[in-house]
Amino acid sequence: MLNLKMYINGEWKDSHNKEKRNVVNPANGEVFAQSVEGTVEDAKEAIEAAKAAFNSCVWSELPAEERASYLFKVADKIDENAEELTRFETMDNGKTLREAGFDVADAAACFRYYAGLITKPDGQTYHVSDPVQAMVVREPVGVCGLIVPWNYPLLMSVWKIAPALAAGNTIVFKPSEVTPLTPTKLFEIFEEVELPKGVANMVLGAGPTVGNEIAESHDVDLVSFTGGTQTGKHIMRAATGNVKKISLELGGKSPNIIFADADFETAVDYALFGIYAGAGQVCSSGSRILVEESIYDQFVNRFAERAKQINVGPGNESNSEMGPLVSQEHMEKVLNYIKIGKEEGARLVCGGERITKDGLNKGYFVEPTAFADVKPDMRIVQEEIFGPVVVIQKFKDEKEAIHLSNDTDYGLAGAVFTVDGAKALRVIKKLRAGITWINTYHPTYNEAPWGGYKQSGIGRGLGTYGLDEFQEIKQININLQVEPIGWFSK
Ligand code: NAD
Repeated sequence: MLNLKMYINGEWKDSHNKEKRNVVNPANGEVFAQSVEGTVEDAKEAIEAAKAAFNSCVWSELPAEERASYLFKVADKIDENAEELTRFETMDNGKTLREAGFDVADAAACFRYYAGLITKPDGQTYHVSDPVQAMVVREPVGVCGLIVPWNYPLLMSVWKIAPALAAGNTIVFKPSEVTPLTPTKLFEIFEEVELPKGVANMVLGAGPTVGNEIAESHDVDLVSFTGGTQTGKHIMRAATGNVKKISLELGGKSPNIIFADADFETAVDYALFGIYAGAGQVCSSGSRILVEESIYDQFVNRFAERAKQINVGPGNESNSEMGPLVSQEHMEKVLNYIKIGKEEGARLVCGGERITKDGLNKGYFVEPTAFADVKPDMRIVQEEIFGPVVVIQKFKDEKEAIHLSNDTDYGLAGAVFTVDGAKALRVIKKLRAGITWINTYHPTYNEAPWGGYKQSGIGRGLGTYGLDEFQEIKQININLQVEPIGWFSK
């Protein structure tokens, strides 16, 4: 049994109240680890450590090149430990080894990207009218609170931690209580590369206690959150006390628009990948497929036929193509949405059940599920299900496709499949979404900004934008004519 502890001021710690939480393998329901259940007091201690480290300038005033060298070492260690990290990610989250392997490789690449970026030129100078040289420089924000969800336990952590540290901040990080394993491994790597004490702190525990303290504390200067939209709204409110900077990466209900002229088999293939990768537990999942009227029936039939062939099983088995849902609680939420879909009168074309055959009864497996003939106001069309459940909508023309696509509170991602390049770009430009694709689904790059419109969030992670989130901009004006201004009479 693994014992997962918090990492505060360079030390591994139990919580003040000594409570523990079971960590469960979603493929078989077995408890494989116990994690410390942090308290508000623990969060305060971690925040204090981060504040002291920031004030000591032990990190923020290191030359960028030296900060970068730590981050490069972290990337190398992730690569060295890739096999174990991949296996652990699968054990904790349920995703397949193939999916987890991509996440681990991306995590190393993300550290390298920000290690490289931080040593590149920044700042600007301005030609102004007075005999003044005006310029801006970038500085770290201070103590950054980073809160992440369970769907990419390692990668979502790294998307925040790498730019925050690159910029010279100190951090108080909280992984999801459901998936603390690979984040803990990442902090072991920080210890191995001898990151200065107090620079990176990790608290474990529940959102309403530990997470809320991070969001509320007046000693935290910024909170960067990835998770559900309702939690994001709570974080916004909690952050008002000291007018913290906030960035929010929230939920989605993203449209995947298939025109009749698209390459049919390619569109079907990406539509399956768009929703069932990660068992649909991906914020940018293409959870609403919109198909042009003339190919609607053909598309629904072919999609259902292919979905039924997906091999669902434990993530650590080489022939599994889709793993379980992350927890029993989440599986029940997803199954309840399937029930709602049936009650709302949508036509179930594949899936719809928990899988209990072939020894899968102890895990949290749900069939790849699709509903056709849905109406725009159905809950299964409007709400984020965050599981292997897709709705397939019909549209008449370009105008209706755009209207239906934008007809939810979310605006995270979206895709268009067509061979008409001008049409593709016309439609994409009308989508109220931050991440879009043409004739593909899901590719994500460390170099390119990530984030949503509307209730899918505020701000952008990754790329240069992701570094901006963790930097203050300071204006500096230097008088080049040092003599009295003579504004007031003597
Ligand atoms: P969640 O909102 O329940 O939890 C996310 C994190 O917030 C966890 O660490 C949790 O402990 C913490 N938390 C919960 N309540 C809190 C509170 N009151 N105060 C402070 N922290 C609190 O989300 P989840 O179920 O872990 O993850 C799924 C959600 O994440 C989905 O909605 C998904 O779309 C979203 N997500 C978004 C992105 C993105 O980039 N936009 C990426 C991944 C996941």
